[in-house]
Amino acid sequence: MTDMMRAWVVSDPGPIHQSSLDQSSLDQSSLDQSSLDQSSLDQSPLNQSPLTLVERPVPVPAPGEVLVRVRVCGVCRTDLHLAEGELAPRHSMVVPGHEVVGEVVQLGKGADRFQIGDRVGIAWLRHTCGACRWCRAGRENLCPQSRYTGWDTDGGYAEFAVVPAAFAYRIPPSFTDEQAAPLLCAGIIGYRSLLRAQLPAGGRLGIYGFGASAHLTAQLAIAQGAEVHVMTRGEEARELALQLGAASVGGPYDAAPVPLDSAIIFAPAGELVPLALESLGPSGTLALAGIHMSDIPALNYQRHLFNERTVCSVTSNTRRDGEEFLVLAQRLGVQVTTTPVPFEQADVALRDLAAGHVRGAEVLRMT
Ligand SMILES: [Zn+2]
Ligand SMILES: [Zn+2]
Repeated sequence: MTDMMRAWVVSDPGPIHQSSLDQSSLDQSSLDQSSLDQSSLDQSPLNQSPLTLVERPVPVPAPGEVLVRVRVCGVCRTDLHLAEGELAPRHSMVVPGHEVVGEVVQLGKGADRFQIGDRVGIAWLRHTCGACRWCRAGRENLCPQSRYTGWDTDGGYAEFAVVPAAFAYRIPPSFTDEQAAPLLCAGIIGYRSLLRAQLPAGGRLGIYGFGASAHLTAQLAIAQGAEVHVMTRGEEARELALQLGAASVGGPYDAAPVPLDSAIIFAPAGELVPLALESLGPSGTLALAGIHMSDIPALNYQRHLFNERTVCSVTSNTRRDGEEFLVLAQRLGVQVTTTPVPFEQADVALRDLAAGHVRGAEVLRMT
């Protein structure tokens, strides 16, 4: 007889929050939710949740894998992109979730890096080939054979999940389960974005969008002496930014108050790219942190790029990024702002994220 567990699966990818808004206003709606109200959500035929709660057999750890009893799982914007179909599904009925903190309960053959009872984290990257030119150059995030938790393979919106031991993380003891979960993607990707943004010591950093990833990244930058300017919708997000030490806050389309050395766009909104580039000083770098972004409008060479400005994307992360970030997060005392959500309400959590109503990071808690 097989042990069963509860799991959320992406059963029907499609827009979550669209109602009176048509598809062409999708980009705008990601920045301005003022036209959305609860009643329109409740009446919308498109309002069916893309997620379904199902019963599944508890997975069996393959050689090299460990089985983890999930205690919490963070909700990432990538889960939303997957649920809404903006990120093409790699297989149907996948269990999303790649910010898992839990306890090792079973070891696959040869998985000797952990012991039963260890607290571990399961993150986005879960396989690379180890042999290609990118892997050999320490850039495994670009490995063409890379595989991802909650996209290629079932993730942590479930009571149990498996992970290759080589890709699991030890969690610094100073963080609770709930605090640690958002570190595993929001934190790690934010850290890589900050590296990609080439922020000089004591430099000025612009941050566009202030969700889970941004609120952690801002703290890293501030702790390292940067002056941080935040451009975002949402009164709560702006308050949090000021509370964490941002030098200024403004609306998503506002110009930065000073020329920036570096900027990171966390919002999945391509229309912000020209604005952010215009706010960069000479030699400035703009990093685009998301896995998905709406189309970028045409750029003007003089206004947006001349004076050796650079724009770059951020693609996943290496395990080294993850290890470095977790050490840094503990040493700098990064504060993780979370909104706990019961496991049974994962669909509601995604809807809140889509609507931009979240303070810090949402975390699903097993009950
Ligand atoms: Zn490779
Ligand atoms: Zn993520």
